[in-house]
Amino acid sequence: MSENIQKNLETVKETISAASKKGGHPTARLVAVSKGHDREKITNALAAGHRIFGENRVQEAQAKWPDLKKRFPDVELHLIGPLQTNKVKDAVALFDVIETLDRPKLARKLLGEFEKTGRRVKLFIQVNTGEEPQKAGVSPGDLEGFSRQCRDLGLEISGLMCIPPFDEEPAMHFALLKKLGEKLGLKEISMGMTGDYEIAAALGATQVRVGTAVFGPRE
Ligand SMILES: *Cc1c(COP(=O)(O)O)cnc(C)c1O
Repeated sequence: MSENIQKNLETVKETISAASKKGGHPTARLVAVSKGHDREKITNALAAGHRIFGENRVQEAQAKWPDLKKRFPDVELHLIGPLQTNKVKDAVALFDVIETLDRPKLARKLLGEFEKTGRRVKLFIQVNTGEEPQKAGVSPGDLEGFSRQCRDLGLEISGLMCIPPFDEEPAMHFALLKKLGEKLGLKEISMGMTGDYEIAAALGATQVRVGTAVFGPRE
C-alpha cells in the first residue's frame, strides 16, 4: 500500500513535469488531495516525502491534520472546498492556503481573522469559468472588480483556481483561467484534477490538485 502511494506520487509528478515542459511552463506543483482518505494513507504520502496536501472540508481536515502538522511542520495544507463564514476561524488556524475565496462577505471575514490572530494565509480566488449557477466561484466578468475589492480591503491575492464543468472540454476553461491570471498579474494558477491535470499543466497550471491518481478511489 505505502509502496503504491509512493509509486503513484512518482508517476503523477513525472507526468506533470513532462506536461508543463511540453507547454513551455515551469513544472506545476502537486497538491495531493487527501479528502475521503484516512490518516494511514496520508502518513504513507508523508513518508514518501510529499508535503503539499488538499482537503475540501474544514471539519474533516480538523479530524485528520492538526497532529500530523505538528509532526511535519513543513506541510502545506490547502482548502479546496467551499468555506462558510462560520468556519473561517477554524480554517485560518489550520490551512496554509485557502483556494476558494469567492465573495465579499468571506473576504471581510478572512481579513478580520487575519487581523485578530496575526496569522495570514495565502488566498486564491475561485473562478466559476463555466458560469454554472450551482457552482461556487466568481464569474469571469466579476473577477476584476472582486479582486480590486479584495486588494482595497488589504487582502493579498496569490492566484486563481477553477473547477471546469463536468461535461465540457476542460482545456478552454484552463486557457481562460490562465489568461485571466495574466491579465490581473496573479501568478498562481490552480487547475487540473485526476482526469485532466496533464492538460492543465500543459496550459500553464502552477499547481494541480490530484486525489484519485495518488491515493486511489475514495469510498
Ligand atoms: C476532490 C477534488 C479534487 C481531486 O479530485 P480527483 O479527481 O480525485 O483527482 C480536486 N479539486 C477539488 C476542488 C476537489 O474537490
